[in-house]
Amino acid sequence: CGIVGYAGTAPANGTSTPAGHQALDVLMEGLRRLEYRGYDSAGVAVVAEGGIAMRKKAGKLANLTAELAQRPLPDSMTGIGHTRWATHGGPTDKNAHPHVVDGGKLAVIHNGIIENYAPLKAELLQQDHTFVSDTDTEVAAVLLGDIYRSLPDDGSADGARLTRAMQLAAQRLEGAFTLLAAHADHPGTVVASRRNSPLVVGLGDGENFLGSDVSGFIDYTRRAVELGQDQVVTITADTVAITDFFGAPAEGKEYLVDWDA
Ligand code: GLU
Repeated sequence: CGIVGYAGTAPANGTSTPAGHQALDVLMEGLRRLEYRGYDSAGVAVVAEGGIAMRKKAGKLANLTAELAQRPLPDSMTGIGHTRWATHGGPTDKNAHPHVVDGGKLAVIHNGIIENYAPLKAELLQQDHTFVSDTDTEVAAVLLGDIYRSLPDDGSADGARLTRAMQLAAQRLEGAFTLLAAHADHPGTVVASRRNSPLVVGLGDGENFLGSDVSGFIDYTRRAVELGQDQVVTITADTVAITDFFGAPAEGKEYLVDWDA
C-alpha cells in the first residue's frame, strides 16, 4: 500500500559507501512514514555488487527490521521499498514484494491490482516462465522481464532499455498500478509507471526519490513532482525523465510541500 524508490550518487573511487544517503536508510524511513496507509507485509531491494539484494517479510515493519539485522544488505545508492496490502495471494513472506525475476537481476514492486493478470499469466506460462507467488504483481514482473530481454542491449548503463520495457509492459497492463523496477544492469536507475494509482517524484540535490505520496521522502526534500495519468518516470541521482506509455516526453506537476512533517 506504500511505495518508495531512491537513486543516489555513486561512491567516489576507492570507497564503497555512496556519497549521498544509503538507499536502505531512505527506504526504511520512507516506509515508516507511509505506515499510516496500512499494510500486512514489507520488503526492500537494493542494487549492489552486480545483482539485486532483497529482504521481505509478512507482518509489521519490525519483522523486516529484524530480518535486516540478521541478514544485512550491502551498501547501495539505488533501491525500492514496499508495504503491501494483499489483494491477490495471502499475506505471506513469499507473496510480499519485491518480486525478483530474471535470475535475480530485476526487482519489481507494485501497489494496486492488475486486472488482466490471469490471461497474461496463462500466456507467460505457455512461454515456460515460472511463478513462485500467488500475486498479480509477479505477473507484471515476469512480463516486464520478458519484454526487457526481447529488447536489444543498447550497451548504456543509463536504463533506456529498462524504461522502454516499462513503457511496453504498462501498455499491456489493465487495472490500477504504481510499478517500480530496479535492474542489476542499470545500478543507478529506478523506473516507474502509474495508472489509476498515485506516484510522486521527490527532487533532491544529487539524489532523487519516488513515493506513493510525499511522506515517502519528506525527510529529504520538499520539492515534488506529481505524475499524471498513464506516465512512466525514470530517475537517476541527477535526472528525472517523464514520458507517456508510448515514449513521448511528458510533464508532471511540480510543487513545494508546505506542511510540517
Ligand atoms: N495486488 C498486489 C498484491 O496483492 C499489490 C497490493 C498492494 O497494493 O499492496 O500483491
